[in-house]
Amino acid sequence: MKTNQLDFLWDISKSLSDSYDAEKIVCSIQTCLKKYINCEKAEVLIWDKNTNTVKNFSKNWITINSEKQDYYIQQILNTFELLKNAIIYNDNVYSLITGEKTSLSIRKIKNNSSIKIYLPLIRKEEVFGFVELDVTKEKEKISPDLLKTFGVLVYQLSSSILNNILNNKMQVNANFHSAMKNIAKIIESQYELRYIIPLIGEMIDRFVASHLIYIFLYNEKEGFTLLWPNACNEKHIFDLLKNINKNSDYLVTEDKKTGIFPLIQEKNLLGAIVAYSNIDVLSHNDIQYLQQLSNQSSITIQHANIYGETLKHATLDALTGLNNRRQFDVRLGQEISTAKRKKHPLCCIMIDVDYFKKVNDTYGHIAGDCVLKQVGKIIPQELREYDIAARYGGEEFSILLPYTSIQEAFAVAQRLRKTVEETEMDISEAKIPNIKKIKVTASFGVSEYIPSIKEPKELFKMADSALYEAKERGRNRVIVYSPIKNSST
Ligand code: GH3
Ligand code: MG
Ligand code: MG
Repeated sequence: MKTNQLDFLWDISKSLSDSYDAEKIVCSIQTCLKKYINCEKAEVLIWDKNTNTVKNFSKNWITINSEKQDYYIQQILNTFELLKNAIIYNDNVYSLITGEKTSLSIRKIKNNSSIKIYLPLIRKEEVFGFVELDVTKEKEKISPDLLKTFGVLVYQLSSSILNNILNNKMQVNANFHSAMKNIAKIIESQYELRYIIPLIGEMIDRFVASHLIYIFLYNEKEGFTLLWPNACNEKHIFDLLKNINKNSDYLVTEDKKTGIFPLIQEKNLLGAIVAYSNIDVLSHNDIQYLQQLSNQSSITIQHANIYGETLKHATLDALTGLNNRRQFDVRLGQEISTAKRKKHPLCCIMIDVDYFKKVNDTYGHIAGDCVLKQVGKIIPQELREYDIAARYGGEEFSILLPYTSIQEAFAVAQRLRKTVEETEMDISEAKIPNIKKIKVTASFGVSEYIPSIKEPKELFKMADSALYEAKERGRNRVIVYSPIKNSST
C-alpha cells in the first residue's frame, strides 16, 4: 500500500466533488488509484438495460464493439448479482461487507499481465455498471481495510456518475426542446424544401448522434428519393422503405440498429426519416426523439408543399416583395425579345450575399431573414421604375436593366454593392442580447445582351458566371462578364 487509507479517501472525495464531466471523473479516479495501489488503467463501463448495451463512460459514451459487448454482457449477467455487495479481485469474489472471500466462483476473466479488479456501481441496490481496474502484479494481499476503502469508493463513484448522467440527460432534454422550437420557427418562415431539409437533418443528427440520419421525400411517381445527405449506400434501407406506406407506423429492425420513421400528414406519405448505425442500437430515448422530430418535420414539409403550390401561381416573393424567380424568368424572356426587336441595350445583374450561411449560423435564421428583407429594400431604391428586380433564390437576387449600357449597369451594381456594405442591417427581430445590427457584403456579376444570344437563359448564365468570378476573387466586388476571361471558369 503506497499511501494511507484516509489520505486516499480524502483525495477521492475531493477530486470527485471537483469533477463535472465523465473524463475528469475517470481521470481523478486513475490519479488517486495510482497513488494508492499500482493501478495502470481504470475504465468505467455502464450497462444500459433498455438496449442491453455496454457503453464506455470513460471514453465519452462510446459503445464498445460487438464482440466485447457480448462478452461484457455475459460477464455482467453472470456477475452483477454477485457484484452487488462484492468486488472481484484477481478472479476471486470478496464481500464488501464482511471482507471475506465468498465461495461463489465466476467465469475466469482472462488476463495474464495484470490483475483485474472489478468494482460495482450501485444505485438503489441495483448494479448499473462497473469499474474495471488493471493493477500491475504485485503480491498484495487483499485486506479488510482495502476492501472497506473500495467500498467507500464504490458509493462515492456511483453517486458522482449518476449525477453526471442525470445532468447530461437534462442538458439533452433542454437542447431538444430548443431544437423543437427551432423547427417550429422554420415552419413559420420557410417554404423552400432545399433549404429546410438540411436544417432538419443537421438538427436530428445532433440528437441521435450515434446514428447516421437520412431524409427521404416521397412522391407517387418516383417513390422515395434521398434529399439529405447526398448519398446512402445502405441497400437494406431502400428495401425497408418499400414496406412503408401512408398507414405505416415507425419501424425498427430486429437488431434495433435501423429505424424508419415515416413522414405522414393528413393521410399523405411525404417521406421518411431513417436512422442507421452498424454498431449502435436505437435507445428508447432515440426512438422518442425521432418520433417527435418526424412529426414536426412532416408538418414543415406539408407546409412547404402547400406553399410551393400557391407560389406556382404567385409572381411576388413573400419575404421581400420583389418578383419571384418564376416571374423573373418570364420577364427575362419578354425583355430579351423586346431588346432584340428594338435593338436597345439590356443588362442583367446577379447578386449573392457573401458568407450568408455564417449569418444564419451565428445569429439564427430570423436574423438571416431580416438581412434578406433589407437587401430586398435596398435594391429597388437604386433602380429606375422599369428595371426588374427579383429574389432569385435563397440569398440570391437578380436584376434586369432595359435600355442600359454595360457601363451604366456596372455603375448601378457598384452603387448597390457600396450601399449593402455600408448599411447596418437591423436584426433586432431576432432578439439577440446586445446585438441589434450587423453588416454584410454581397458579390455582383453583370452581363450585357448581345444579338448572338439565342436562349434568354444565356444572359442570366453570363451574369452568374461573372458572379462566380467575383466570389473567387474574394467577394464584395462587381465583375463584368467577358467571354474571354470567363470562358475558362
Ligand atoms: P458565399 O459567400 O460563397 O455565397 O457563401 P454563402 O454562405 O452565402 O453561400 P451558401 O450558398 O453556401 O449559403 C447560402 C445560405 O443561405 C444557405 C442557407 O442556409 C441560407 N438561406 C437560403 N435561403 C434562406 C432564407 O430564405 N432565409 C435564411 N435565413 N437563410 C437562407
Ligand atoms: Mg448562394
Ligand atoms: Mg452567398
